[in-house]
Amino acid sequence: MALADNSKIVILGTGGTVAGTSTKVGDNIGYSAAQVGVAQLLGAIEALPAALRGRELLTEQVDQVDSKDMSFGLWQRLAARCAHWLADASVQGIVITHGTDTLEETAWFLQSVLQPGKPVVLTCAMRPATALAPDGPQNILDAVAVALDPGAQGVVAVCAGVVHSARDVRKDHPYRLDAFGSGDSGPLGFVEENSVRWVNHVRKDDLSLEKWPQPAIENIVKSGSWPRVEIVMNYAGASGTTVDLLVRDGVQGLVAACTGNGSLHQDLEAALIRAQAAGVKVVRATRCAQGRVLPKPGDLIGDSNGLSPVKARVAMILALLGAQTARTA
Ligand code: ASP
Repeated sequence: MALADNSKIVILGTGGTVAGTSTKVGDNIGYSAAQVGVAQLLGAIEALPAALRGRELLTEQVDQVDSKDMSFGLWQRLAARCAHWLADASVQGIVITHGTDTLEETAWFLQSVLQPGKPVVLTCAMRPATALAPDGPQNILDAVAVALDPGAQGVVAVCAGVVHSARDVRKDHPYRLDAFGSGDSGPLGFVEENSVRWVNHVRKDDLSLEKWPQPAIENIVKSGSWPRVEIVMNYAGASGTTVDLLVRDGVQGLVAACTGNGSLHQDLEAALIRAQAAGVKVVRATRCAQGRVLPKPGDLIGDSNGLSPVKARVAMILALLGAQTARTA
């Protein structure tokens, strides 16, 4: 007999500090990330069976990396495994254990490519599994609570009891357990004793992301050559040298992490405009931690529609991949 819908929760392991160990018990910073397998990690959480509320748990070790070393190949495999499990009617939701360093980029990549109706919940830890008081187990329990919640939808991140949208989540602290913020949009909700209190809705512009046609998704998941997109930052004394070198080196896209409301040193701006004229895709995002670039008439370089520099880069890579698909279709 076929299993009833929503009878399973899938937890995909990718590594990170949540799976990290240190040789000195209690060392919170001198450790190696991505050491403990996801099955072993989950097996040590005594409260997990109860938190699953009767759902069957499936686990997969998709990879075992420190997320500072995140690669396109892992993103492709992760998207493929998520797509596989999301298509299974018996799966209620997916939890992904991930390092904190690039979690926001993976979240935006998965949200953009999959646009899932079911929850895909990324979670993490700031302390390794060998810490005196590791935060990973509670974060995983909280992520499971979100995956089981009927109000959860799409890709979200859960850390320190706070639920963030894929669009807004941003690591904004290198040490604190509550290391993520959602900028001035605020978090989506809070996890309190296994239940989720939603305080915000997923933004309409996330739900209405342009749907990728199936061949484009297949291209994204299979493509051996992803477009090269780099980020250049504006700062006092910035020049156009890096941009000119990147263009000569064949870069296909450039994201400018601008000061303030999309402002650029005149030399950097001139180089970016030259790059744009030469066919390189260029976009402006703000390096400010909150807010967005507000476009104004006469702007010579477009803005990132509120995406942070790293997420604007993901969006540009996907747009270039999509265009590649259209050309080869
Ligand atoms: N470097 C680690 C990682 O991103 C940091 C963490 O997980 O907190 O995998």
